[in-house]
Amino acid sequence: MENGATAARTAVIVAIDGPSGTGKSSTSRAVAAQLGLSYLDTGAQYRAMTWWMISNGVDVRDPAAVATAAGKPVLVSGTDPADPAITVDGVDAAGPIRTREVTSAVSAVSAVPEVRAVITELQRSIASAAASSRGIVVEGRDIGTTVLPDADVKIFLTASPEARAARRSGELKGKEAADVAATREALIKRDAADSSRKTSPLAKADDAVEVDTTDLTLRQVIDRVVTLVEEKRAER
Ligand code: C5P
Repeated sequence: MENGATAARTAVIVAIDGPSGTGKSSTSRAVAAQLGLSYLDTGAQYRAMTWWMISNGVDVRDPAAVATAAGKPVLVSGTDPADPAITVDGVDAAGPIRTREVTSAVSAVSAVPEVRAVITELQRSIASAAASSRGIVVEGRDIGTTVLPDADVKIFLTASPEARAARRSGELKGKEAADVAATREALIKRDAADSSRKTSPLAKADDAVEVDTTDLTLRQVIDRVVTLVEEKRAER
């Protein structure tokens, strides 16, 4: 078995950022599974915080109320890419965090600095625990710029608004899936809010590799990222 010191030298920290619908989650999970790394979905943490606020009667349009409540929920994220679980106060939140109500409120909640401080600390402690084994793939909006600026590999995924809306509609079910135009509008609105907030907005780190996924298959994107990670490991 690898001892702690050896693992820390060979561990790899991979930050994958970008707007929604670029294939970020599918790519991150597959890369982690293929390379035997842990996986953290930071969007799920912001969604879980938002779900808790809504469930507990906090007005998500009131930044002061959100800031006061930010330290209350206990968020626990699983890091198995095959089963990316999340609980809030011990309750499974994997389903409720994907509702339209949470999706439309999450940008307002995640713009509150106190929320970002609580969640960023949690993310750093999960990444540092993973660094004493094989490493981790962390996906989000501000991982390469703010949460883990020393990540070994930084990727920024992009895609055209049309490709992103089509992919996101494909993930939704029934009536929601039918409305690609509404999905496109909602995505653009959420990205604009995420990119323009004051505290750690959605942004590409200067040293991130940008991958435009518009004309690539998921397999091609995964292969590209795996190659970048392997090249980094070979340099050591
Ligand atoms: O990735 P996902 O679409 O689930 O993210 C939901 C929301 O969480 C984003 O729209 C953004 O407001 C917020 N988020 C963030 N920082 C991250 C990850 C997600 O602000 N690192």
